[in-house]
Amino acid sequence: MRFSFEVKDCDLQGRIGLISLGGRRLETPCLLPVVHPVSQAVPPSELKSMGFGGLMTNSYILSARRKDEALREGVHRVIGYDGVVMTDSGGYQVLEYGDLGVGFRDVAAFQAGIRSDLAVTLDRPTGYPQSRRVAKETVDYSMDNAVATLKEFGGAETTWVGPVQGGLHLDLVKRSARGLAEAGFQMLALGSPVQVMQNYMFADLARMILGAKRAAPYSVPMHLFGAGHPLTMALAVALGCDTFDSASYILYARRGRYMLPSGAADLEKMRYLPCSCPSCVKSSVKELLELEHADRTKALAVHNLHALRAEVEACKEAIAEGRLWDLVLERSQAHPRLKEAIGVLSENQEFLSQGTPALKDRGLFIRSPEDAKRPELEVARRRLARAARRSAPKAVLEAEKAGPVVRARGAPSGKQGGYDLYRMHPVLGAYPAELEFVYPFAQTVASEGAAGEWKAKEGLAALRKMGYRSVEAAGARRRVRSRRRRKGGAPSPPSPSARSRSPRRP
Ligand SMILES: [Zn+2]
Repeated sequence: MRFSFEVKDCDLQGRIGLISLGGRRLETPCLLPVVHPVSQAVPPSELKSMGFGGLMTNSYILSARRKDEALREGVHRVIGYDGVVMTDSGGYQVLEYGDLGVGFRDVAAFQAGIRSDLAVTLDRPTGYPQSRRVAKETVDYSMDNAVATLKEFGGAETTWVGPVQGGLHLDLVKRSARGLAEAGFQMLALGSPVQVMQNYMFADLARMILGAKRAAPYSVPMHLFGAGHPLTMALAVALGCDTFDSASYILYARRGRYMLPSGAADLEKMRYLPCSCPSCVKSSVKELLELEHADRTKALAVHNLHALRAEVEACKEAIAEGRLWDLVLERSQAHPRLKEAIGVLSENQEFLSQGTPALKDRGLFIRSPEDAKRPELEVARRRLARAARRSAPKAVLEAEKAGPVVRARGAPSGKQGGYDLYRMHPVLGAYPAELEFVYPFAQTVASEGAAGEWKAKEGLAALRKMGYRSVEAAGARRRVRSRRRRKGGAPSPPSPSARSRSPRRP
């Protein structure tokens, strides 16, 4: 089957993409609800109308329970769903129940036989915690099976997905991802995040994803196994995960758990339903609690699916608007451990900036120390390094907020006036006024006292370091003469302000 992945929009490492698999298409990022091949609380046909273009089912269980039927009719017909079907190899069952006596060939032949759209080759999840020795064994086992499957079944209609293992051993994760991409896999799936997430190790989750993403080509979509929780969705998308699968909607529903963008709550302890999905609109908490267990489970599962879909859509809209960073930061307020993951994002500012558009048509907000590490600022920093050149003996720094520079015909520029004109950016410091026209120098909005705010004094010092013979600050209300000037003799009256000599403003 012809597989292609087209990126339509991007922000940080997140992207809106289109996976084409022959006649079926999947817009990413997307969540593939996990559907049991036999017992389903929410029928797969309903998933499609709820906006899920794909689902995940377990080929091991399907093979054990409905093998002949599935081979005869194909997986889509057997489970009653005509969207994209991804099948898991059953590697997780191997982890849970020990060796099941199946090899890569059986697993691959069955998945190809049932005409799965996307199929994970037989893997062995690393899990957590795990020694390096065992982790390496899982990587080797998964890699050997993956390469052998591609070699033997590469011509099948099914697109094979390479399972990246290694757990928290990041060197193994990188080796696994690189090896699979080099072997020719067009899509990868990062394993073992479930236990890491259950232990709220979000910073480690971020490092795992980054390890795999840095080692794989940008053009290869990355699936994240079992990561269907609204809380971590934006983080995983920002780090470059394109698809997710999760049974959380039904597992939570069975335990009476109601998903919220900030986490999940016990229905029994709730008083209101802050959602407008069909389940929530037609019932109250009391009415849901009075339902039979099976009915309540279905109603909660439907709500949870809507909550997950809403979060995926929120991520997509944030990418399209160029405010994925803001969304990740908003979500990080929900849990202190999630906040730790923001630190990992900050450490990888340069990598995240690679997928960040150079131009955005919106303001850039600096509200906290974390915002000072926005990837957009990394892009701007590189531009600044290229643009900062001394072309006159004198520099004038407009330290205070001023309107945008307007280039009007006949108006003298700073350079024509015999000096280089600079302005202040709250994080980047002094920058040539010409960059006013370049995002995000003039579009940055910083709250009072936001971290790293440059003071005029520091801006002047930086300009002096550039070798200007004379440096002065010009503000709207107050002028600060540079120390070097003052040393040179009697204080002179304030020079013609940068304002009067600089280009005309509205
Ligand atoms: Zn709802």
